[in-house]
Amino acid sequence: MSIQNNLRSIQASLPEKVTLVAVSKTKPVSDLMEAYEAGQRIFGENKIQEMTEKWEAMPKDIQWHMIGHVQTNKVKYMAPFVSLIHGVDSLKLLQEINKQAQKNSRIIDCLLQIYIAEEESKFGLDEKELETIFEFIQEEKNEMNHIRIVGLMGMATFTNNTAQVEKEFSRLKTIFDSYSNLNTKNCQLNTLSMGMSGDYQLAIKCGSTMVRIGSSIFGGR
Ligand SMILES: *Cc1c(COP(=O)(O)O)cnc(C)c1O
Repeated sequence: MSIQNNLRSIQASLPEKVTLVAVSKTKPVSDLMEAYEAGQRIFGENKIQEMTEKWEAMPKDIQWHMIGHVQTNKVKYMAPFVSLIHGVDSLKLLQEINKQAQKNSRIIDCLLQIYIAEEESKFGLDEKELETIFEFIQEEKNEMNHIRIVGLMGMATFTNNTAQVEKEFSRLKTIFDSYSNLNTKNCQLNTLSMGMSGDYQLAIKCGSTMVRIGSSIFGGR
């Protein structure tokens, strides 16, 4: 199967309101261009330097999503162009994104990453930390005018145990729904980013609105 065929068949299987992020990390620009020529405009990368190089090399109507763990000192490199940062997992990082967005006269959309897996290796906030961040953001005097929190992101445990994965996705959906009434100028939750090549159908069943798919489009890494 070619990249274009993979992309078309996945695209055709997605409900209309689910957004596809084509995860292109480690893949060459020529592969991304194949997807671009098939109409894909949203690409996900997990390393800032690699994303920046691809952004420089590729057409400017692409939306670049940072899906990896972000180090505070690297935010400045993507602030001029990144369209959505999926993995925000601390207030400190959010404040740095706000600062760099301001320098670029931009408002940068962010997702807060929630820890839902049972594995130790995944990043993310627990529910208490999430609540603390929302409380901070909602305070009138906070001056985070250059970020917008548009939703949540999570990664399930890497396992064949479907029941386990479903439980984790459902939990994230419940947390997401519990904040659906938030509506401040920089906080409106409309995006739930969950689901990868191996589990996106299940994620959609559990309420995902954005799937991040790499290997099923571009092949193994
Ligand atoms: C690599 C990656 C993906 C895509 O994984 P595939 O299994 O190749 O679809 C999705 N989300 C994140 C955060 C990733 O790092």
